Amino acid sequence: MAQSILGSSPVCKPEFPRSSASTSSVSGSKLNVSDIDRTQLGFLNSSKTNLPLRLKALSEGVGLVQETKETTPKFISKPDDTFSEMRNRFLSFKKHKYLENLECYKELAEAQAPKFLVISCADSRVCPSYILGFQPGEAFIVRNIANFVPPFENGPCETNAALEFSVNDLQVENILVTGHSCCGGIRALMSMDDEEKSSSFIKNWVKVGKAAKSTTKTIASNLTFDQQCKHCEKESINNSLLNLLTYPWIEKRVSKGLLSLHGGYYDFVECTYEKWTLDYQKKSQKQEIGGYAIKNREFWS
Ligand SMILES: [Zn+2]
Repeated sequence: MAQSILGSSPVCKPEFPRSSASTSSVSGSKLNVSDIDRTQLGFLNSSKTNLPLRLKALSEGVGLVQETKETTPKFISKPDDTFSEMRNRFLSFKKHKYLENLECYKELAEAQAPKFLVISCADSRVCPSYILGFQPGEAFIVRNIANFVPPFENGPCETNAALEFSVNDLQVENILVTGHSCCGGIRALMSMDDEEKSSSFIKNWVKVGKAAKSTTKTIASNLTFDQQCKHCEKESINNSLLNLLTYPWIEKRVSKGLLSLHGGYYDFVECTYEKWTLDYQKKSQKQEIGGYAIKNREFWS
């Protein structure tokens, strides 16, 4: 495995409590488990994705498709197999997903109206559509190293271009910033010298998370480096949620109740998912260090 500033993604041992019966915070705002509500991911059961619209005439056109089994991940191991396997996967998708839900895909060809913007790490193990089941048309997704949201004052980049389009044009109702265990980007952030001038694109990008690093170094200094990295993985998600509010057009929609901001954390060592929602309305609980309360915390295991 190639070594780089992002490292070789060591396997981390989880040290966070795995029960949902705990308090949690965004930069220190604590709430009780009694605030936990039901998940807001009910849209995943959209009936649109189950339309029995198989069209015989069209499906005959893919009669030579070699079946692929989706119940077990099949990895492409030999370079020569890459595109033949990819071709089989595409044709299987066309036969079993596209043509069997043709009406849905015809609607999507006209326009998209996703309810979610998802900001996820580019790590190959954490595809949000795969682990959270987003179907085509359900989520506008932007992926970058360590799922950061830069603050408004940092100026244009591809992540906030996606924010602008999805919030102002698509008018998504939810933004989910989803992080993960063993994140190489967070490890790079935690390892780097903050004063160092570097030409590395990676180092200059992960600096976006330096507030989360600073908080982690302050409140988790007693932990091991691996544990601090894990703490920072979650802290940076909260930092990104607060950074979202630096965009005037995002805060405006959040304040009107038209847009909700959510954090998510996928532990792929234990295969658990934690999610929470920023409680913008509870400004009375705003902390001295600039945090907001959270609500609707859930732990899926
Ligand atoms: Zn990552």
